[in-house]
Amino acid sequence: MGQTSPASLRRLAAWAVGPCLPAWAVLLGLGLIGRLSWPTALISCLVVFLLMAVVVLSRLADFDRIIRYSEDLLANPDAPAPLLQTSATAQRLLASLTALRKLWADRREEADALATSRQDILDSLPDPFFLLDRRRRVVSANAAARLLFDLERTTDQRMGGLTGRDLAGVIRDPKVLEAADLALAQNRKTEAQFTLPAPVEHTFGALIVPLSATAQNGTALIVALHDQTERLKMDRMRADFVANASHELRTPLASVLGFIETLRGPARDDTKAREEFLEIMLKQANRMTRLIDDLLSLSRIELREHTRPTEAVDMEALLRGAAELLDRQAKERRVTITLNVTPGLAPALGDAQELSQVFHNLISNAVKYGGEQGRVELTAEKSDTRPPSMPGRGPCLKISVRDFGEGIPREHIPRLTERFYRVDNARSRELGGTGLGLAIVKHITNRHRGALTVDSDVGKGATFTVYLPMVVG
Ligand code: ADP
Repeated sequence: MGQTSPASLRRLAAWAVGPCLPAWAVLLGLGLIGRLSWPTALISCLVVFLLMAVVVLSRLADFDRIIRYSEDLLANPDAPAPLLQTSATAQRLLASLTALRKLWADRREEADALATSRQDILDSLPDPFFLLDRRRRVVSANAAARLLFDLERTTDQRMGGLTGRDLAGVIRDPKVLEAADLALAQNRKTEAQFTLPAPVEHTFGALIVPLSATAQNGTALIVALHDQTERLKMDRMRADFVANASHELRTPLASVLGFIETLRGPARDDTKAREEFLEIMLKQANRMTRLIDDLLSLSRIELREHTRPTEAVDMEALLRGAAELLDRQAKERRVTITLNVTPGLAPALGDAQELSQVFHNLISNAVKYGGEQGRVELTAEKSDTRPPSMPGRGPCLKISVRDFGEGIPREHIPRLTERFYRVDNARSRELGGTGLGLAIVKHITNRHRGALTVDSDVGKGATFTVYLPMVVG
């Protein structure tokens, strides 16, 4: 009993008193009825107590050590087990306690591993995600949330990073705060949309889900964010596209309908007007046909955009064919088309039909916008470097269509390949343009893993250059 504390002594004394009680009762009873003298009875009680204390000290001291050991375990799970001296029962109790301690340590390790893997799982989710307590304070957040709110740097500093902050300090949008309050008050899933203005404007959807029971660490709400910027942009583009396409078709259609009405009414017997109107109607109907053809081309190309074409295409023959098709148009505007191809140029890796459409559109634009009596130069050569917008490395083909017309103001160049984008709306329509030609060119070059660049000086003309992969070897 080397390290017996006053508390254990008091406990051992108390343990010794209990078993003495029956013997004391008998001795005191014998004293009461006069069978034992009081001094004898009292001495006997003392002797019984001392004998009992010896037994208790020798037998129960081990149990006292076990009690102290279990008390120590509460403060320190790695506390060393005591050395027991006598009792086999105490040995068994200690063995069970040690097994229990091991089980508990294993469980704790498992729980720690689970918590770490849970954090790893949350961190691997691409969407920002955090957990809130009932007072709307952040209990934990995943890596995407920390990155989004740019608090990684301040984590564990005085600001405390994301953890511990009120939701209002993280997302300042009142709609999200209201949704979180509602989820807590009515114990139901809520949703809200909010916009983060910096560094680039992004719109997020927040899904807020209450937990059925508040977790031990205080988690009561899950807030999952989803970036909706791209989807909203696509929705807007789709809606704009349908509106633009309908508008483009409605204009010639309204004109055709107007002329039909006139021909059925006031101009019924006017042969000259009829001829004139029929001519305009034919022009409008042709415009609608071109528009529908271009729309169909675009959707066909979009469908195939992720499969790379594999034909070997002779560019000289292709450019010559494209120029010949536009010969009548060029002659009408007294435009000369010249062709300059490096002898023995390697073929392009592509789809001949699609590439014909690319150069048909570019040459047609050069003839249309290059000015009357102008000149259009077609050149095809090998380029040892690729423009930054072209994927891959190594040499490629560089095919340019150059005109010497009015050119394109710099600010319009980045938007030229957008559907229905025109520098001068009236001019394009008057020249029979659909506003889709360059969008088609861009989609075809994308499908070919090529690139399109535009250079222009206002008043001096424009050069559209298409870079294409070439057949090597
Ligand atoms: P469009 O059918 O109107 O010609 P495109 O998509 O082919 O449509 O061209 C978009 C716009 O780009 C044209 O409306 C025109 O304003 C401008 N553009 C295209 N090519 C040229 C060029 N060679 N010179 C000047 N402007 C051009």
